[in-house]
Amino acid sequence: MKVSECGEFGLIRALRRLTGAPEGDLLLGAGDDAAVLRDGAGRRWAYTADALVEGVHFDPSYTPWYSLGFKALAVNLSDLAAMGGGGPSFALVVLGLCGEEEVSWMEEMYRGLSDCARRFNCRVAGGDVVRSPERTFVSVSLLGALDGEGFLVRGGARPGQAVLVTGTLGESWLGLQFLMRGGGPDDHRARRHLYPEPRLEEGRRALRLGATGAIDISDGLLRDVGHICEESGVGVDIFLENIPISDAAHRLAEELGLDPLRAALAGGEDYELVLIADQRLAPLLVEELPATVIGRVREGEGVVLLDAEGRVVDAPETGYEHFREA
Ligand SMILES: [Mg+2]
Repeated sequence: MKVSECGEFGLIRALRRLTGAPEGDLLLGAGDDAAVLRDGAGRRWAYTADALVEGVHFDPSYTPWYSLGFKALAVNLSDLAAMGGGGPSFALVVLGLCGEEEVSWMEEMYRGLSDCARRFNCRVAGGDVVRSPERTFVSVSLLGALDGEGFLVRGGARPGQAVLVTGTLGESWLGLQFLMRGGGPDDHRARRHLYPEPRLEEGRRALRLGATGAIDISDGLLRDVGHICEESGVGVDIFLENIPISDAAHRLAEELGLDPLRAALAGGEDYELVLIADQRLAPLLVEELPATVIGRVREGEGVVLLDAEGRVVDAPETGYEHFREA
């Protein structure tokens, strides 16, 4: 079978069978936003990796090198946030280059990466440069400290719990559509797509306040909530009227002739956090993070959309999976 036939997630399932279950100081293995390790002093570390590939994750014609560097690190920090991490972190960076790139482009990329690192208490510790004849890529791996012993997991959802999300959704995907139609990368409408904000403080606070589960939104809300369902063995009802969409997203969607709700549900790359917590904690999280209650965990499986009257609504084509673009 070809990878394109089983898809990204089918391949990951097959490979996870070969890596075995976590043991010893590996507290959490493959299948979450990050692995979790324990060092000799008992401190917990989240360990994650993510790559951005030309033509797949970015198009150099509308992606400034500075933003590519910023985003390459930010998406890894977002995975750390999804574990409830917010402590110091250390990054290794692998660049795949064909050789025709200007040195000044790479310096610009590292300026973006370094600015992101400084803002979020991260140090770039090293890396590698390799030849990649066809396409430029930048791959970052990140080791980030967790506070205390707990961490947030995709498998942390139980029936009856509340589903929350930080921030607002849809603007990143709408910003991408804006760029693809010739919009300038310096325009504020492109900002959420080019400069995602890892929700490190929110993830850390959610863990401290007693949340049990989390995922960051990279593939799109519905698909990422679907990952929580799979890993937790539960279903989730999403309350459509509660989905937080900013005024800016509504305006941009109208300008582009696109549906803001669809952008919020399936667009992806928002890098907000979906959080799972007991109902009694939900008001505290709403207040303190802040966050919005967008659903509830139930028995069963899969994500179901409910309108204001509690009627089931059809889901739009949902989210991103590598090797499975129609
Ligand atoms: Mg993630």
